[in-house]
Amino acid sequence: MKYYSTNGKAAVADFREATINGQPSDKGLYFPDSIPAVSPQWLNDIRSKSQEEIAFDVIRPYIGGTIPDAELFSIVSETVSFKFPLAKVDDHVFALELFHGPTLAFKDVGARFMSRCLGHFAKGIERKITVLVATSGDTGGAVADGFFNVEGVEVVILYPSGKVSAVQEKQLTTYGRNIRAIEINGTFDDCQKLVKTAFADAELNKNLFLTSANSINVARWLPQQFYYFFAYQQWTADSTLPVISVPSGNFGNLCAGLLAFRSGLPVRHFIAACNANNVVPRYLDTGKYAPAKAVATLSNAMDVGDPSNFIRMLEIFDHKFGDVKTHVSGISISDEETKAAIRSVYSRSGYLLDPHGAVAYEALDRYMKSNHETNGILLETAHPVKFFDAVEPLIDQSVSLPERVTRIMNLPKHAVKLDPSDDLLKEFLLNSVPVQL
Ligand SMILES: *Cc1c(COP(=O)(O)O)cnc(C)c1O
Repeated sequence: MKYYSTNGKAAVADFREATINGQPSDKGLYFPDSIPAVSPQWLNDIRSKSQEEIAFDVIRPYIGGTIPDAELFSIVSETVSFKFPLAKVDDHVFALELFHGPTLAFKDVGARFMSRCLGHFAKGIERKITVLVATSGDTGGAVADGFFNVEGVEVVILYPSGKVSAVQEKQLTTYGRNIRAIEINGTFDDCQKLVKTAFADAELNKNLFLTSANSINVARWLPQQFYYFFAYQQWTADSTLPVISVPSGNFGNLCAGLLAFRSGLPVRHFIAACNANNVVPRYLDTGKYAPAKAVATLSNAMDVGDPSNFIRMLEIFDHKFGDVKTHVSGISISDEETKAAIRSVYSRSGYLLDPHGAVAYEALDRYMKSNHETNGILLETAHPVKFFDAVEPLIDQSVSLPERVTRIMNLPKHAVKLDPSDDLLKEFLLNSVPVQL
């Protein structure tokens, strides 16, 4: 298996090079040169397989021999070492819960898989690898947890001061060792700009082996296919396949589902569920892609105005707009509708959605009604407790903190505070050493 760049200029790469580089030099995205097919027999037998076996079989062709099978099996086993239950929300709607990992968000799977792959590849490199990442909240925690104690890899996380939730901040700043957090006096956009400038800085790149851990990295993107196979494994309303609704921001998750579908996984239809940031739903309506400035919403992990994985959605369907439209519908949900969905689902069935899952629920409900569909699955991408300040007033009740959250809430925060200056960040990267907590 080789990966080409969607911009067509950079050299093809194997999985190892694509993981280490993150992005091809021509600023396209890596894309597999063929999509492996799963056999009908394998799908038929899926209920007798373990999560680890499913994950291993799905990802193995994409690795193209760059990681030995035994090592790969232990990497996927650690990646999916928690449950992905399909929970009943009401008679016809189920939630695939992707929040049972260490940081309570679905990004744990991609971050755990990528960190272990990079750790494996770092053994063949003499220099330490420095992962530099900007976060608006969920990515940083998943990356910190995934990379904690991975040998040969240092992690530096930039986050905007005062703009991440209390739980998220603790998830970024309490690890220590090879994980360092920088609190930037600015916005998420400032953090992202600083990271971009650092990647382009010749002196920094001469002194450090820099790479990124954002969602365009194939090692974070590809393992997200597992969710869809796990959903299929648990699906028992056998005669009708489910419509799957995916709360989307940068569209890595949805594109992973579409890739699984192109590999032969049976899915009736996909919904790109968006908040007010509706660039993709508008594209699906009009055929025109018009990036926009992101607006702030309740489901803030989806506040993206120019989704970085959009190009992969086209690539999956060979740039045939008709085919994209046949398999994907885009639906945009307002904050008011999101709140109403959290409230009404909770009062009807006792199931508590987080704001991202609520966007997916509402979009699914709307689609099922207007298309007379009978069964649906929404991907619940975060535990509601991560957004308790938004959720609690809607249900008039407090959400209890899981044990792993109360534990970190009591740990001291360790972060270096910096103004958004390229020079200050450079000085930090060149001179500071990791702290031992
Ligand atoms: C990152 C995130 C999303 C968006 O996922 P994409 O793959 O970027 O589309 C949705 N929900 C939550 C909770 C997230 O953290």
